[in-house]
Amino acid sequence: MNSQRMYEMMKQKLSRIVPEPELRYKVELAAEIVRLKEEKNAVILGHNYMEPALYYSIPDFRGDSLELSRKAAQTDKDIIVFCGVRFMAETAKILNPSKTVLIPSAKAGCSLAESITAEDVRALKAQFPGVPVVTYVNTYADVKAESDICCTSGNARAVVESLNSDTIIFLPDEYLAGNVAKETGKHIIFPTLTPGPSPDFGRGVRGDGTMLGWRGRCEVHEKFTVKDIENIRQQFPEVAILSHPECSPEVVAASDFSGSTGAMIRYVEQTNAPQYLVLTECSMGDNIAAANPDKEMLRLCSVRCPHMNEITLEDTLEALQKTQYVVEVPEDIRLRAYKAVERMIAIG
Ligand code: SF4
Repeated sequence: MNSQRMYEMMKQKLSRIVPEPELRYKVELAAEIVRLKEEKNAVILGHNYMEPALYYSIPDFRGDSLELSRKAAQTDKDIIVFCGVRFMAETAKILNPSKTVLIPSAKAGCSLAESITAEDVRALKAQFPGVPVVTYVNTYADVKAESDICCTSGNARAVVESLNSDTIIFLPDEYLAGNVAKETGKHIIFPTLTPGPSPDFGRGVRGDGTMLGWRGRCEVHEKFTVKDIENIRQQFPEVAILSHPECSPEVVAASDFSGSTGAMIRYVEQTNAPQYLVLTECSMGDNIAAANPDKEMLRLCSVRCPHMNEITLEDTLEALQKTQYVVEVPEDIRLRAYKAVERMIAIG
């Protein structure tokens, strides 16, 4: 695609969101990325948290973790460039071992993924033998490899219900676990790791709908409070407030809707409120505003994900030019993680 066509495409979407000089600069980067993408037979996946100029220019597919995992599983391209954070690129590699998977920045981590290790999961399994382990996709491959099944925020409830088990280990997000426990009628406890089987296990833990959680949190979503919601509602009494399930159960309860990033986007598209506020990474509010010029989006933009913000057009161009940073997953770990991811994808 030449620069002029790219400019027209980006201008049409972003004229109200991105200032003209910035747009002109980013058009050149985006056009070169698309040229290289075609030359190298690559596909670009863009997570909903990418900044608007990237989100609306270079990705072949945009979406949340689950939607992009599905796209990653179907691609026939040689290279997958994942504009998202490392655990997402790892999931693409788990599903496509023969492809080269690139992440534009080596610094794009995640506070949730870093909150738990494979060793922690093994210790929990030893403490609660036989209890199925559900792991949020926001974890690294070695943690997924220790799990029975993965889930996203979009399908967590369906995954938990599919297991048909009174007791579930649900890792690592404390708040997502709390929200899913509420939806599935389980109560949640946070066991302290001890060596060997839990002395309480089998006496009160089993048989009464228990979710065994972990104290991991998303450093973005944990920042939203019920007080924020009260303040916003005071100023904008008719605002529709949408929260991500990584927010606390109290924040979710005080919101009008809670769902994955994909579900929040659909909610705004399909409803008609005077204003909307999405309690999630700020760029997503920009991206929804760009796609829905008739909707008024409020933003709490002091809350940003430092990891998602590592991914820029400049880095994406460099990643394609230098074929960096290549995401690798050791084959023994990949095979076990694949089973957990594949089982999740089969549920939908
Ligand atoms: S928004 Fe939260 S869960 Fe998502 S990558 Fe950033 S820190 Fe991780």
